[in-house]
Amino acid sequence: MRYLVTGAAGFIGSNLAARLAALGHEVVGIDSFNTYYSPELKLLRKKNLLDPHGINVHEFDLCDLNRTSQVVRDIKPDSIFHLAAQPGVRIPLGSSNLYVQNNLVAHANILQTAVECEVPNFLYASSSSVYGNSTADTFSENDNSIQPISIYGATKLANEILTPAFVKRSNTRARGLRFFTVYGPWGRPDMAYFRLIEAAINGTNFTKFGGGEIKRDFTFVDDITSMIESLNRQLNETPKGHSDVVNIGGGKPYSLNDLIEIITTKSDSKLNMKVQESNPNDTKYTSANVEKLISLVGEKPEVDLNSGVSRTFAWASQPEVKQHLLEWIKSTI
Ligand code: NAD
Repeated sequence: MRYLVTGAAGFIGSNLAARLAALGHEVVGIDSFNTYYSPELKLLRKKNLLDPHGINVHEFDLCDLNRTSQVVRDIKPDSIFHLAAQPGVRIPLGSSNLYVQNNLVAHANILQTAVECEVPNFLYASSSSVYGNSTADTFSENDNSIQPISIYGATKLANEILTPAFVKRSNTRARGLRFFTVYGPWGRPDMAYFRLIEAAINGTNFTKFGGGEIKRDFTFVDDITSMIESLNRQLNETPKGHSDVVNIGGGKPYSLNDLIEIITTKSDSKLNMKVQESNPNDTKYTSANVEKLISLVGEKPEVDLNSGVSRTFAWASQPEVKQHLLEWIKSTI
C-alpha cells in the first residue's frame, strides 16, 4: 500500500511512518518543520526514523491548499494519516491563531483534497482533550455532551464535526483517533514526562504545575502506532462515506505524582522540583473507555507505564540524545 503521513517529522508521525515502512508499505511524509519546538529535533527524527526507510518528506505548510492538492494528486495514497497539528493546550491567547491555522485550516485543506482525490481512507488525530473536564469514570465515544475546556480541544472537536460532513456521499471513509497522552522515545519536549526525564538525567530543575494530583491515561507510542495501523485495516471493512471516532488509550490513569515516583526510581540522583500554579487549560483527569477499540481491532494498548518509561529513559540517556534534551525543552514556545 502507499501511505501519506502528515506531521511526519513530529513525534507520533515519525514513529508511525517508520512502522508502516517496516511493514513493507511505501510511505511519503509532509511536514512544515515549524518552530513550536526545536526543528533540529524534527530533523533528527527524520535522520533516525525516516531516512533509513527511504521515506521522503515534502516540506510545506498544509494551509497552502494548492500545494496540498498537488502533492496528494502526485502521491495517490491508499490512506492518509493526518497527524500534523498544533498540539498542547497551553499556548497563550494571543497566539491562538496557531490552533486555528494548523488545526482547522490545515485539517479542512487535507480533508477536502482527500475527498476530491477519492483517497479511500482518511485517518486523523483527535485528542482526549475533546472530553474537557468530563466527570465520567471512563470517557466514551458515545458521550454526546462533551465540552472541551481548551481552544486546542475545541479545534479537535470541530474537526470531528467537520469531517463527516465532508465525506458523506463521497468515496472516502474517515476515522478520528482520540489519542490519550502519548509518550515514548523521540517524544515532545513540551510534555511533562519529557521534562521529568531530562531533569532526572541532567539534575536540572523540574517545574511541577499544581500539586501533581492530575491524572492521565498514558499511552506508549508503539501501542498508538500499532492501533492506528489496525484501525486503518479495519476501516476498509466499512462502507464508503463512513465516518467515526475511536479512543486510543491505555485505560488506566496515573497521577503526575505517580509518574514522578516512577521516574525517580530510575534515576541515581534526587529530583529537583519547583512548584508553580496549575494551568487552567489542563484537564483534571483522563481515562479512555476502550470497548469500541477492542470491538474493532480485538486489542488495546498493553505497554504499562513503568516499562514504557524505562524504554523512554533508555532512549533519552544515549549520549547523542542526552546532550540535546535541555536545548529542546528550552526551544518550546
Ligand atoms: P508534534 O508537534 O510532534 O507533531 C506535529 C507535526 O506536525 C510537527 O512536526 C509540525 O511541524 C507539523 N505541522 C504542524 N502544523 C503543520 C502544518 N500546518 N502543515 C504541515 N505540518 C505541520 O505532535 P505529536 O505529539 O506527534 O501529535 C501528533 C498529533 O496527535 C497531533 O494532531 C496532536 O494534536 C495529536 N495528539 C497528540 C497527543 C500526544 O500526547 N502527543 C495526544 C492527543 C492528540
